[in-house]
Amino acid sequence: MKNILVMGAAGQIGSELTPALRKIYGNANVVASDIKEDVPAVLCEDGPYEVIDCLDAKKIAEVVKKYKIDTVYNLVALLSAVGEQKPLLSWQINIGGLMNLLELGREEQFALFTPSSIGAFGPTTPKQGTPQNTIQRPTSMYGVTKVSGELLCDYYHLKYGIDTRGVRYPGIISNVTLPGGGTTDYAVEIYYDAIKKGSFTCNLKKDTRMDMMYMPDAVKAAIEVMEADPAKLIHRNCFNVAAMSFDPETIANVIAEHVPGFTIDYDIDPVRQKIADSWPDFMDDSAARAEWGWNPDFDLEAMTTDMLEVLRKRLT
Ligand code: NAD
Repeated sequence: MKNILVMGAAGQIGSELTPALRKIYGNANVVASDIKEDVPAVLCEDGPYEVIDCLDAKKIAEVVKKYKIDTVYNLVALLSAVGEQKPLLSWQINIGGLMNLLELGREEQFALFTPSSIGAFGPTTPKQGTPQNTIQRPTSMYGVTKVSGELLCDYYHLKYGIDTRGVRYPGIISNVTLPGGGTTDYAVEIYYDAIKKGSFTCNLKKDTRMDMMYMPDAVKAAIEVMEADPAKLIHRNCFNVAAMSFDPETIANVIAEHVPGFTIDYDIDPVRQKIADSWPDFMDDSAARAEWGWNPDFDLEAMTTDMLEVLRKRLT
């Protein structure tokens, strides 16, 4: 990786992945881009920034040529809860943007990282120890786009030799940019409310267990899978990557150990609950561990200590 383009850089993951990439590969060699014109200085002042709509194939091609891009991180997506409100737009953006990159990749031969998600699984998928290769019949539009994306990336690799790679992220917990409307957002909001209010109203039932990951591990996964020796990759697009798995009651109990008197109550959002109920409790990530050495640094306790320390400094 020498010249990198990050699409969707202003989102929850891009706003932390972009500075991490710039630290490794040099500020000038990592071009940030998003549909947003007004973005934080860390994206548009520390290195190049381009406004790109992922549906504008011509503009993507111009930027790829201008900066001699050899690696693209494609983070553009409408997330699960938003996708249920706008299914057609979700399909157009998630798949339209990806297809533009895959088609351009045939000419330019850049490597392409596109994250999939636990949302690529559905109610008929085995929920515990969800295997790398298993039933994928998701019931959300987000999930439909994620499975389609996995298949398209595999297809363009097999047919045209494009170096496509990806991981199935769990819910990502972070403290820089708020999440963009996913089903696991509660696990970020709970930390903010613990500091600000000492209490939290959760939109999922207390025993809704899902895979989660702290942002430093999400950034590490994206960089390491792209740096992996291609000869060792069997799966390429859509490695299960896991770090921790919990339900709202468990995370609340861990937070209460750090924030005395912290309380949680529940006001269920039926749309998010239905999606969450269709997702795995925990994934088997042995393929990622075997093929490119995946190994997360943060468990629930370590993440909670770090999240609360960062947010206390900022919010109190
Ligand atoms: P996000 O919603 O926070 O960010 C997406 C970014 O895309 C935003 O900055 C938005 O402005 C931009 N965007 C929207 N429409 C665009 C368009 N037409 N052209 C260009 N940019 C556009 O998402 P995220 O949480 O950073 O997720 C990044 C990727 O990781 C997505 O593929 C998502 O499905 C995947 N993922 C995220 C999570 C999570 O918990 N955050 C979990 C699993 C998978």
